[in-house]
Amino acid sequence: MNRGKPIAYLDNAASSQKPTCVIDSLSDYYQRFNSNVHRGIYELAEDAESLYTNARKCIANYLSVENNEIIFVRGATEGLNLIANTLGRSQLKRGDVVILTEMEHHANIVPWQMICEQVGATIEVIPVLPDGSLDLEKLFNSLANGKARVLSICATSNTLGTVNPIKKITEEAHKHGIFVVVDGAQSMPHEKINLSESGCDFFVFSGHKVFGPMGIGVVFGKASILDILPPYQGGGDMIDQVSFEGTTFAPSPQRFEAGTPNVAGAIGLGRAIQYLSQLDMQEVQVHERKLLKEAQEQLHQIDGFKEYGTTANKAAVLSFTISSVHPHDVASILDAEGIAIRTGHHCCQPLMKSLGVEATARASFAFYNTPEETERFVKAVKKSVAILT
Ligand code: PLP
Repeated sequence: MNRGKPIAYLDNAASSQKPTCVIDSLSDYYQRFNSNVHRGIYELAEDAESLYTNARKCIANYLSVENNEIIFVRGATEGLNLIANTLGRSQLKRGDVVILTEMEHHANIVPWQMICEQVGATIEVIPVLPDGSLDLEKLFNSLANGKARVLSICATSNTLGTVNPIKKITEEAHKHGIFVVVDGAQSMPHEKINLSESGCDFFVFSGHKVFGPMGIGVVFGKASILDILPPYQGGGDMIDQVSFEGTTFAPSPQRFEAGTPNVAGAIGLGRAIQYLSQLDMQEVQVHERKLLKEAQEQLHQIDGFKEYGTTANKAAVLSFTISSVHPHDVASILDAEGIAIRTGHHCCQPLMKSLGVEATARASFAFYNTPEETERFVKAVKKSVAILT
């Protein structure tokens, strides 16, 4: 419920709702298997270890990669920080360039800024065209200019819904020996991801956006690259031998998972991915995009309505403004109607600047949203326009 009305939850790009099986897997772990992993030789610890290991296997399997290529982290943000700090620290040097795009979330900007400052590298930003697609010509020119070492790019924009052609981009980047890091936070909930097909070197996502728990996420890294990277954080579990003379480190993924991990979170995420694997993601996409189209068709009739991101191939994310109406006011009226949407800069301040707005309202759909909810959303937006103009 929301404000006493049945909730129409259209803030899925921020975080998704959880299926019962995921919630149950968390309470099951805490009630029946709670113990630390990697340490105990008693049965309970072995059970916890095997649930944790199975979660990793399940995720690796879903993404078509190897188990030792899956690293558990807190979420996409920590994942991108891990990559910037390990790949960036070991592979970037003064004069190198990291390519980002104008549509990136702050999580895929700030860690690179921090590492570039440390090593003397610079950032080049690929612009977004008026329809919300990436300027691929500029991107390909930059990939070819001999300075870039890393490209870090979102698969799907959280604000525009734009789906970037990751496979094609990766192929082009690899021709020039550039590492490709993909922020998959917004693609995982909407499409079947096959990383051995996509070819990227790194891929990150957050559990809570893919129907899994908060505080858990994944970094995929190609084994051949992880093997040459230094550790991220130091501590227990990531070592081979420790002495005051020097320390040697465990192989991946342990090298990148210092300290007690979020065992329950990993198990819950494994369960969420199992749940996802039972959905037909093609059908999910058709359903979500149908909801988007229904909303678009009606909302575009409103005077002063503007949608940001209008490419044909876009995820079910609808960012909009209505002239002379503040997005927050629209969202407040929707809230009173039981409808949850997001307003603000969506952690994309550089993108907002290039769009020439401070904020947009954003509705984002998931597979469990319905045409009735979409209809209520449209009706409430129309009501907000009637009230506010
Ligand atoms: N990348 C994108 C494209 C996102 O949309 C988000 C969150 O909205 C993130 C990264 C950061 O995710 P988290 O806050 O779960 O780490």
